[in-house]
Order: sequence, then structure tokens, then C-alpha cells
Amino acid sequence: MERSLLEVEAIVRDRICRVCSDRTADGQCGLEEPRDCSLFRMFPQVAKAIQATRSDDIMDYVRAIREQVCAACQYQASNGSCEKRKEVRCALDAYLLLVVDAIEEATGKSFDRAALNGQGFMEVRL
Ligand code: SF4
Ligand code: SF4
Repeated sequence: MERSLLEVEAIVRDRICRVCSDRTADGQCGLEEPRDCSLFRMFPQVAKAIQATRSDDIMDYVRAIREQVCAACQYQASNGSCEKRKEVRCALDAYLLLVVDAIEEATGKSFDRAALNGQGFMEVRL
């Protein structure tokens, strides 16, 4: 079943914020500026990259996010590196598998997670 972008964002928010290490005990975003969360600050681009990708290989989604989201992000350096990514301070990158799980739930697709073995992505399951 195809879901709207708003529905996909709601699923992603529910999945990610619930387990995010930056969430406070009372359920709020603990960032000094919650709007600075790269996952939701750039959610239109995130959703667009994911919805425009049609593949059973999760690495195609990772690539799409790098090219369409990270490339437009203020935190990515000109050489493609990102301090937030390196320090696991970007929710989009840190919880990438959960984001993909949310998309899987939204679209009913299954992805080849074996391709992520050894790639350094955090596996967080509910
Ligand atoms: S940093 Fe982002 S993912 Fe984490 S609680 Fe805040 S809004 Fe949610
Ligand atoms: S990994 Fe870095 S460049 Fe990519 S969205 Fe996160 S903060 Fe931005």
C-alpha cells in the first residue's frame, strides 16, 4: 500500500524519536534546537530520495540519501565527509536502518540487509 509523505514521516518520527538517544525522559527532543535534527530538517529530501529509489538492495537507498540529502546538508564538507556522521550525532545516519524499516512498513517491501554487514550502521530494533 502506497503511503503519503506525511504518513511516512509520522512512521519515521514514531520509530526514531522513540529510541533516539537525544530524546529526554519526558519524551521531548533533547537537542538545543530540535529543528536542527538533520533527519527531520531535511525530511522532504529524505522522503523524496527514498520514494524515488526502487530497489531491493538497501545500499541503493543509502546511496540516494548520501547523494540527495547529505550533498545538500550544511554539515557535509566539500570532500564529502561529515563530522556529525563520524561522531554518530546525525539521527538520519545513526538510525538509518530504522528509517528503512519504516519505509519497509510503509511500502511492504523487503530489503537486503546483508549488504549492510560491516558498513558501520547502527542496528536498532524495537
Ligand atoms: S534528534 Fe531528531 S530523531 Fe532524535 S528525538 Fe530529536 S527530532 Fe527525534
Ligand atoms: S550524515 Fe551529515 S551530511 Fe548527512 S544528513 Fe547527517 S549531518 Fe547532514
